[in-house]
Amino acid sequence: MDEALFDVLLVFGTILGLMVGSFLNVVIHRVPRGESIVYPASHCPNCDHVIRWWENIPVLSYLFLRARCSGCGAAISMRYPVVELLGGLVVLISLLEFGLTWSALAGIVMGWNLIALGMIDFETKTVPDILVLTLGIPGLILSFLIGSWTGLMLSVLSAGILGGFFWLTRKIANASFGEEAMGEGDITLVAAIGVYLHPIFLPMFLLTASVSVLIAALFWAWTKKTSIRDVEIPFGPGLALGGWVLFVAGKSMMGGLMHLAAPFLNNY
Ligand SMILES: [Zn+2]
Repeated sequence: MDEALFDVLLVFGTILGLMVGSFLNVVIHRVPRGESIVYPASHCPNCDHVIRWWENIPVLSYLFLRARCSGCGAAISMRYPVVELLGGLVVLISLLEFGLTWSALAGIVMGWNLIALGMIDFETKTVPDILVLTLGIPGLILSFLIGSWTGLMLSVLSAGILGGFFWLTRKIANASFGEEAMGEGDITLVAAIGVYLHPIFLPMFLLTASVSVLIAALFWAWTKKTSIRDVEIPFGPGLALGGWVLFVAGKSMMGGLMHLAAPFLNNY
């Protein structure tokens, strides 16, 4: 593809991503409440003031409204511009990494779903089944488009391994702590993430996800102003972050590790 044309695609793709991010905010707010995502039009949850188009421009509106509703002055959560930015970043990074390919589309579909799933889990401690499906089903189709039957088979294998591993971990954790240490939703979520990962990435996914869970826990403690010991472990956001990073950068990460280890491998 022509380089200039690709740059245009990057700009428009990112703008589209910001707009989808704005829609994801609606999803994050309404899906856990069982509300329709198309009706009624977006409104302030505090005063029902209907959001006009110029109050709905990704990131910019948040800045010129100075994080306040123009109707009642209620504070608008930081989550809105953050999710919008993430929606755009997902497109930008996927296109830069994979070019105009099915892999890029997979990175985008995976990223958008995981933003919604991660945020909803973070805010409500639930994992809506509908979003696990909109993550997993297109993932299977894209695996087939990327790697034909082998790709599809590897996706199912990864989903099974990760789902099984978390199912077993949950059984053991619940038996030893006598309380719910991990939600059932985390099992279906991790299986749906597995659809996007080659089995060879699974050990590194678990490592990346653990580090991401720790980062999410620290962020949780910071935003809720509690001690790290009182933190409810937010598995969802950690799994979401770890899974997406591995999908986009897994190859480079593995390559980097091999490069670091090379001088110490005796068969090198
Ligand atoms: Zn308001």
